[in-house]
Amino acid sequence: ALTAGIVGLPNVGKSTLFNAITQAGAESANYPFCTIDPNVGIVEVPDDRLNKLTELVKPKKTIPTAFEFTDIAGIVQGASKGEGLGNQFLSHIRQVDAICHVVRCFVDENITHVSGIIDPIDDIEIINLELILADLESVTKRFQRVEKLARQKDKAALAEYDVLMKLKDGLENDQSARALDFTEDQWKVVKQLHLLTSKPILYVANVSEDEIVDPEGNEYVQKVKNFAANENAEVIVVCAKIESEIAELEHDEKEMFLEELGINESGLDQLIKASYQLLGLATYFTAGEQEVRAWTFQEGIKAPQAAGIIHTDFERGFIRAETVSYHDLVEAGAMAQAKEKGNVRLEGKEYIVRDGDVIHFRFNV
Ligand code: GDP
Repeated sequence: ALTAGIVGLPNVGKSTLFNAITQAGAESANYPFCTIDPNVGIVEVPDDRLNKLTELVKPKKTIPTAFEFTDIAGIVQGASKGEGLGNQFLSHIRQVDAICHVVRCFVDENITHVSGIIDPIDDIEIINLELILADLESVTKRFQRVEKLARQKDKAALAEYDVLMKLKDGLENDQSARALDFTEDQWKVVKQLHLLTSKPILYVANVSEDEIVDPEGNEYVQKVKNFAANENAEVIVVCAKIESEIAELEHDEKEMFLEELGINESGLDQLIKASYQLLGLATYFTAGEQEVRAWTFQEGIKAPQAAGIIHTDFERGFIRAETVSYHDLVEAGAMAQAKEKGNVRLEGKEYIVRDGDVIHFRFNV
């Protein structure tokens, strides 16, 4: 399963945020495919559409979909020099599919900051530098292989050579791979190199309790937003401390608490949704009288593969996918009406599943 890794310097609020994630935790019995590991937190993906479908279909059970966050521990500074725990830090980042980079935007004199002063851009750059140095090493190694082939005028090697040159140039100027300008074809080559700084990233600005209602007033948050805009990255503002309190509440209490604070959606819920998208994940639904359920798939897959997420037999014996979009179903009011209106499509093996599809799979056993 794809996972988003939580990284950050010490004392920025990572553990507090990760605790909120595990507290809010999903019923793991429903998600047998998920990893059981103290460094992995399974979260349910909040989705209003699932509530609406439940109202329409009135099933016995409703099951949201879930995915995993990974807490990336380890020492950051000096990591690229390959010193013990630092090395581990890099290898953990290698294993995740996207990065949630937590930065400290709260002021609290009682909690020391590793650099002595609060400067979120400095923090971001400390970590990024380690990742950039590690990537530079990967690129240099790759060069040695590709150079020879490029000299023999091998076409693929020549194209890769250009990409590597551009990467080397950028990385040497302290730029992450994701911040560089590549054509679509070049980007495909970059992806195959599995660099650390080409992984999708979002920044989590951790603000203090009294700033969560109006984070725009926090100058650090503004700085992080400006920085992130350069990389086309998103910034999610949270107060980790409040999130860990919210995570302990039951659903109704949580709603009340948020209302009192004057916020619509908890920072954690926003983070979950944004990370899900960052990973390229999307949701389809099954809606029967027994169970209404959300399923996670990777964008771009075809109907049989999507069926296989429920059960391998569904994929093997796939016949067709009776599909209606969430919007059409809600507008029709019920499955029968949607059928009458001709909104239920019979899709075959080549159909590329879309976010929000409500699907009934037909298959041979
Ligand atoms: P980590 O080292 O990045 O995992 O940081 P921790 O989660 O352990 O947090 C470091 C310290 O900062 C702890 O004492 C937390 O209680 C405190 N802290 C974390 N988030 C917040 C916050 O939003 N506001 C304030 N005031 N303190 C926080």
